[in-house]
Formats: sequence, structure tokens, C-alpha cells
Amino acid sequence: MQSAVCPGSFDPLHNGHVEIIARASNLFDEVIVAVSANMNKRPRFSLEQRIEMARETFSYVRGVSVVALSHGLLVDFCREVGANAVVKGLRDDRDLLYETPMATMNRHLSGLETVFLPADGRYSHLSSTLVKEVHDLGGDISECVPRAVQRRLTESLR
Ligand code: ADP
Repeated sequence: MQSAVCPGSFDPLHNGHVEIIARASNLFDEVIVAVSANMNKRPRFSLEQRIEMARETFSYVRGVSVVALSHGLLVDFCREVGANAVVKGLRDDRDLLYETPMATMNRHLSGLETVFLPADGRYSHLSSTLVKEVHDLGGDISECVPRAVQRRLTESLR
């Protein structure tokens, strides 16, 4: 069985992430969405909320599960869950420059491969930061995020 990990902070999950995870699920028997607990900046949503939104979004997608990535190296997490690869979406050359050293390091550390999928043109402008900013200023982000996320974003402003 071939399984892949899609790691990220998902603060919050948006349709660019959803599209990459859906495409990963067409390539692998099992996809584990790993929501990272440790972030450089304070997250808008708690780890539990970020996991809950992702679980709600993927509840009907076969082969996709959502778990916490609490500590330690990604390569160790992948070994623990038996994943063969990491899948990452690339929006542009900045993503490529940022992701390539990490992918190479992971391969050197344990042979773990990273599969890069080009972002779909419909979503390549999306980032969690931009989605939050537009939403907080009153913009319509209904086409940018899953319904579970839109609800939580609205609640977070109350
Ligand atoms: P980070 O881990 O840098 O906080 P995110 O959690 O937002 O990034 O995203 C996790 C991964 O999802 C990123 O490493 C990137 O591969 C991918 N990604 C982010 N935004 C998009 C997008 N709009 N389209 C495709 N892939 C994306």
C-alpha cells in the first residue's frame, strides 16, 4: 500500500490545500493530512480547531485522514505512520525555492521522497494569510475555503 503525508499548518485550510490533497488521494492509497502543532507565529485557530475543520472537510473522501503533527522530524513521523512520500503543492518559484532544500534534506535523512504537485490555476493565489486578511476586512471568501472553514472564520470575528 502506498501512502503519503500532506503536512502543513492549515491555519486555516483553504481550497488550494483541498485541491492538492484530493489530487494526492488519486495517486496514493492513503493520504494522511498532518496538521502541525508548532508554528512560528501564533495561529488564529488552535490545533484542535484546525484538525476539526480538516476532518469535517474530508469526512466524505475515502482514504484521507487527518492527524496532529505534534513534535519531531517529519521523516520520523512518516516512518511511524508508514508513509512512502510527502506531497506538497507548489504555487510559484518561491514555493519551489523554499520547499526544495527541505525535500532534499528529508531524502538525505531517511530516503523519504517528496512529490511536488503544481497548484491549480484557480487556487494558486491562495494562502491562509491572504484568506484571513480578506475575510477580516469583509471580503467574500466563500469560493476560497471549504464551508467548515468559512463558518469558523465568521465565528472567530464575533
Ligand atoms: P505552511 O506549512 O508554510 O504554513 P500551509 O500550511 O499554508 O503552509 O500549506 C501547507 C502546504 O500546502 C504548503 O507547503 C504548500 O505545499 C501547499 N499549499 C499552500 N497553499 C497552496 C495553494 N494555494 N495551492 C497549492 N498548494 C498550496
